[in-house]
Amino acid sequence: MATVIPDQKRVGMVSLGCPKALVDSERILTKLRADGYAMSPDYEGADVVLVNTCGFLDSAKEESLAAIGEAIAENGRVIVTGCMGNEAELIRAKFPAVLAVTGAHQYEAVVEAVHEAAPPSQGPYIDLVPQPDIKLTPRHYSYLKISEGCNHACSFCIIPSLRGKLASRRIDAVLREAEKLVAAGTRELLVISQDTSAYGVDVRHEERTWKDHPVRTHMTDLARELGQLRTPEGDTPWVRLHYVYPYPHVDAVIPLMAEGLLTPYLDIPFQHASPSVLKAMKRPANEAKVLERLKSWRAICPDIAVRSSFVVGFPGETEADFQYLLDWLDEAQLDRVGAFRFEPVAGASANDLPGAVPEEVKEERYGRIMAKTEAISAAKLAAKVGQTIKVIIDEVGEPDEDGDRGATGRSQADAPEIDGAVYLREVPDTLKPGDFVEVQIEDADAHDLFGVIA
Ligand code: SF4
Repeated sequence: MATVIPDQKRVGMVSLGCPKALVDSERILTKLRADGYAMSPDYEGADVVLVNTCGFLDSAKEESLAAIGEAIAENGRVIVTGCMGNEAELIRAKFPAVLAVTGAHQYEAVVEAVHEAAPPSQGPYIDLVPQPDIKLTPRHYSYLKISEGCNHACSFCIIPSLRGKLASRRIDAVLREAEKLVAAGTRELLVISQDTSAYGVDVRHEERTWKDHPVRTHMTDLARELGQLRTPEGDTPWVRLHYVYPYPHVDAVIPLMAEGLLTPYLDIPFQHASPSVLKAMKRPANEAKVLERLKSWRAICPDIAVRSSFVVGFPGETEADFQYLLDWLDEAQLDRVGAFRFEPVAGASANDLPGAVPEEVKEERYGRIMAKTEAISAAKLAAKVGQTIKVIIDEVGEPDEDGDRGATGRSQADAPEIDGAVYLREVPDTLKPGDFVEVQIEDADAHDLFGVIA
């Protein structure tokens, strides 16, 4: 029987920014739910509205400010949290009506502000696993945040000054959360942080006990333990590692991928390949012999998909640096690539570097890198035509006029929201999001695959 809470207060949430901010929003809502609050899907029904902001790029700041303005106009009772929280003065000056401003990861401060703005009608109750109505990601995949902050000092980035030094979560707490999520229906876990390969460095990889055996606060121990999880149906959930730098210990997770215990997918934000640009960017692990490592990973796990992102037009990037990057991409044959034109972020040290690249040159290089990576992607996807691959279903459509129903899913090479999709035709009525199916691939374009259940 559902619990009825008299005079239950309702909280609205506007979540902006990256998957990490989304996880913060989920955590805040989970805590509020445990405190007896209900969620409001609209402004009208909310006793208070939380705006979780992103302040990474100037364009994101503008979007955040616009969202605060809208929430004030529509509801009036607004609490601001997230990355822009460290610009409280600016926010208060622009929106004096804002009730409270808290920074990123200050969960307790946000929850306290909500308690003050709309006192809860009942004391705490039970379950810490997010209920389906408060998870912002679809139920079948979940982000698993393992740490906050970062110990690096990449010259284009202000995250360390926004979020502080690396602070790793306890590994037993992370594993418990993962286990609960999988028991509650998650079929795919996305491990996120600012630097997943650095997990536990801040606590000297301290040991904890998990299921009667010791585990270190370390990426390889985490990956191995996550590989032991099973869904209620007995399947191995997909586990993706995001934001991994190519340190030598990353080699240790590749055999787990080859064994099918970890999704054969690595998201490594290389950002560039030219040594001089990497040096100016102050990138971690930039001396690693990446091309050789990629080769050895593929020898162990031929199916591994590597996704990365690159910045073009970084200050000082010459035509020779850029050509080096294109040649490197030819060799590296990455599966998924995102490219960005360099954009100065207020407060980043890269802004003071000499050799700013003119906008039209950035644009031209952006066009060339996109053409290169699209051609690589198209060839890689074309090679999958005729194969049968495992797909997780994200969405099942309504039947068309002939009664045929389509569905959208992803292969192991596709992370949600950032990579491609697998489009299925003529799926059975019983198919639902989160199902794993074997798909015969019939066609491909530069980003997506098309097929039918085998
Ligand atoms: S690794 Fe570099 S880009 Fe990533 S959060 Fe740390 S400083 Fe920023």
